[in-house]
Amino acid sequence: MKESKKDLTVGTTVAGQPIYVTCYTIDSEKPGKTLYLQGGIHGGEITLHMIREIYNYIKQNISSGKVKIIPFANPMGWAQKAYTYTVGKFSDKTGEDFNRTYGKTTINSSTVAISNAILKECEEADFAIDLHTAHTSFPHTITFDENVLPMVKIANIEYNRLCYGSEEYKSTLGGQLTKMGIQNFTIECGSHDDINDEYTINVVKGVLNVVAELGIINSKPQQNKMRQVAFSKSVSFYAECGGIVDFKKQLGESFKKGDVLYTIMPANLQEEEHIVKADFDGIVFRFAKTHIYNSYDEVMRVFRLEDLKSI
Ligand SMILES: [Zn+2]
Repeated sequence: MKESKKDLTVGTTVAGQPIYVTCYTIDSEKPGKTLYLQGGIHGGEITLHMIREIYNYIKQNISSGKVKIIPFANPMGWAQKAYTYTVGKFSDKTGEDFNRTYGKTTINSSTVAISNAILKECEEADFAIDLHTAHTSFPHTITFDENVLPMVKIANIEYNRLCYGSEEYKSTLGGQLTKMGIQNFTIECGSHDDINDEYTINVVKGVLNVVAELGIINSKPQQNKMRQVAFSKSVSFYAECGGIVDFKKQLGESFKKGDVLYTIMPANLQEEEHIVKADFDGIVFRFAKTHIYNSYDEVMRVFRLEDLKSI
């Protein structure tokens, strides 16, 4: 077994310092498959604690092939802070989403330079996994190609979003790799800027199940959840007016038609609170980590129960 660390230089700062992303490799030095794993293309999306566990487990148990890992794919995104909050989703310079520039040919963008360096690292991969987090949410996979569904089942994470042939995701890492014929999925590992032990265990087991299936480590797939469900759409609720939102249903909570999901307190003290009720049965899927809303902001995203299918 050989461990290595390589800095991929993607540009230089005004002071002449290199801008680079670091790629780690664990090589069994025996023939076999290659897995590519990355996190942190968006600043503030904490996945390092999961990546470290995965890295250490593979290092102890690798039997064939190799694993390449980039834990912080985008150092520029992680440097974007507003007070205590790490933003890091969009380029300050171009406004581009850092995960919508893969496969683009613009040359005067360090975001594209990073995307291209990552795609090059992925060329030899048999399978790739891109780790993200989503506001306040629970772990779920995102898959772009139906041929990957068997591997999604092996990962055995409870919620799974199917986006086969999605236009929205064609310039993401997952979308581009799919175009290059490299099987992959994305995992939204939980909430932004959060460490949650249960979610960590789910995601670490999910990734290691894939690594085992590829024959890179010898271990039996571990059951994450008794059930796995897939969905291809969700329902967003947008603020009908500005105000302070009080959530009446929490993440992962089921609700019935007629239940109150949240209320909006308007600034006008003479105006009543707005009460928002569900008009179908569902489950709360995600919301932003804030109570402060302007009109048209997305307040909550939910599943309709009827849109969840067992897989
Ligand atoms: Zn992300």
